[in-house]
Amino acid sequence: MKAAVYDGNKITIKDVPDPEIKESQALVRVEAVGICGTDLAIANGYLLTPTPIILGHEFAGKVVKIGKEVDLSWLNKRVTSEINSNIDFDCYYCKKGLYTQCVSRKAIGIDIDGALSEYIALESYLLHEIPDSITYDEATFIEPLAAAYQTFEMMPIDKSDKTIALFGLGKLGLLITQIAISKGLTLIAIDGSDKKLNLTKEFGAKYLINRVTCKDVPDEIINLTNNLGADIVIDTTGNPNALREIIASCRTRGKIHVKSTHGLETPINLTDIVVRELTLYSSRCGPFEKAIDGLTSGNIQVKQLISKKFKLDEINKAFDSYKNNRDHIKTVVHI
Ligand SMILES: [Zn+2]
Repeated sequence: MKAAVYDGNKITIKDVPDPEIKESQALVRVEAVGICGTDLAIANGYLLTPTPIILGHEFAGKVVKIGKEVDLSWLNKRVTSEINSNIDFDCYYCKKGLYTQCVSRKAIGIDIDGALSEYIALESYLLHEIPDSITYDEATFIEPLAAAYQTFEMMPIDKSDKTIALFGLGKLGLLITQIAISKGLTLIAIDGSDKKLNLTKEFGAKYLINRVTCKDVPDEIINLTNNLGADIVIDTTGNPNALREIIASCRTRGKIHVKSTHGLETPINLTDIVVRELTLYSSRCGPFEKAIDGLTSGNIQVKQLISKKFKLDEINKAFDSYKNNRDHIKTVVHI
């Protein structure tokens, strides 16, 4: 089969053996794969993975073959997959039901081969059926949307939380925007792209800050929040230098939530966090069922977030589509 293989230096389309399924696995014909900031961090050499590796962890396809132990009903179903595979169901975290933190887990497309290929073998416990109303392209948003919901699973919102400042309006930021607004929070959106800022306005953001033209972003946020700072500040910038501004934009005893996975050292002064008693939250992937519900109910809009589509053969163009383009949100690769 054809696959996009990253060798630690570059990505090339190669002919690789078709995956063989174990009795507990399903073979999925991949239809669409979203390119994510994590993929870019790997391809740029910031986030280290074993190599060679097939990237791609936001994907959807159809089950074309199943092992003997897999329920027959999965055959021919349209599916997406959890990102964390190789779960042992036996460790400290698994026993608490926290499978995404299993000590044995391997992330698809990061620790083990991913979905930028014609086929992928998946343990059946990873599969989620996609309702007919969701296209394959839209289904590539289920994994990042689950990660967006996880922001609020890990960080409780209480009565004193009214304002939320969101740094970074990539795909994840624009998904978090929609969830935050549905929770009744007043959103301050910060990005360098007017196009993305205007999109958050359509979703209901109250204040837009273009970081390119704004002299001092934390000052502006403090001005907009009765000289307090935002109750919650979220980082989806993928830029380690943003964290200093993020801390400065948070009110005393406020909440900071880091979603970026750029793999880089982050130079911050922790004293400000200590003195002002800020709480630091973080989260990664989350509840797929909520994400699927969000899409099928129409509560979450994703069509506007697809900026470009490419074929697998054009994989380098797909990765390059993110370069030097502030307005770009998400690229989908069709297999
Ligand atoms: Zn485990």
